Amino acid sequence: MYFIGLDIGSTSSKAVLIDKNREILDYSLVSLGTGSTGPDLVLRDVLTSIEDEEYSILVTGYGRNYYDNAEFSVSELSCHAAGVGFLNPDTRTVIDIGGQDIKVLSLDEKGKMFNFIMNDKCAAGTGRFLDVMAGILEIATSDISDFAHNSGNPISISSTCTVFAESEVISYLSKGRDKYDICYGINESVAKRVAGMVKRTDMKERIAITGGVANNENLVRIIEKEIKRNIGISPMAQYTGALGAALICSDRKGRG
Ligand code: ADP
Repeated sequence: MYFIGLDIGSTSSKAVLIDKNREILDYSLVSLGTGSTGPDLVLRDVLTSIEDEEYSILVTGYGRNYYDNAEFSVSELSCHAAGVGFLNPDTRTVIDIGGQDIKVLSLDEKGKMFNFIMNDKCAAGTGRFLDVMAGILEIATSDISDFAHNSGNPISISSTCTVFAESEVISYLSKGRDKYDICYGINESVAKRVAGMVKRTDMKERIAITGGVANNENLVRIIEKEIKRNIGISPMAQYTGALGAALICSDRKGRG
């Protein structure tokens, strides 16, 4: 018996396949989220590893309520808590930055979530903000970290609103400011917003970051500076929800 966690996000779909010993056998990601072919693509991808063996699917993420082919459905909060508990059981605070929201989860000694806070319905500080800014700069979102790292004279973005920040970036570009400095300003603006949320919690260590924005290492280092704490980045950061979903699926089938 095999277990698949399927995380259908706002911008991307992730699947993680585990066996009955909780061993990760395969994982897959496509940058297509809810309402697209993304979920089917990642599912088909991981299923190639088990051919005709029996499996069960647990779905999570923003698009989970619109997906009919899963046996179970669980909120992304529980899945992220389960995922980080597996990757590093000492984690007490989880910062999850995805395509359209930021969540900060507080976990107890058993890894159970006892509190969480979320951003208001606004793109500022999310992956969407970074994607929009990358579009204006004509670079890939995945390049922002390296560009920002090489900044010598960072700009500062004063607007928190995505639309106004967009105008600011366009104005910096027209004044001939280089993309490295603008990228640092973009990362700093997101990092300050996230840090402000983290500071509203008890910031208990160890702190981990999950979600696609965890791939932006420069941004994570600025959050660290702002909150004066270290943050662990797992190579599986963007898969944490899908991994947690696979683990909860295996627990539920085991119990059943
Ligand atoms: P969701 O689950 O809401 O679809 P994810 O947790 O998958 O969101 O994160 C998606 C976001 O992560 C994208 O909007 C993008 O900004 C960011 N992202 C994805 N890959 C990278 C990367 N390699 N470098 C920097 N940012 C990335």
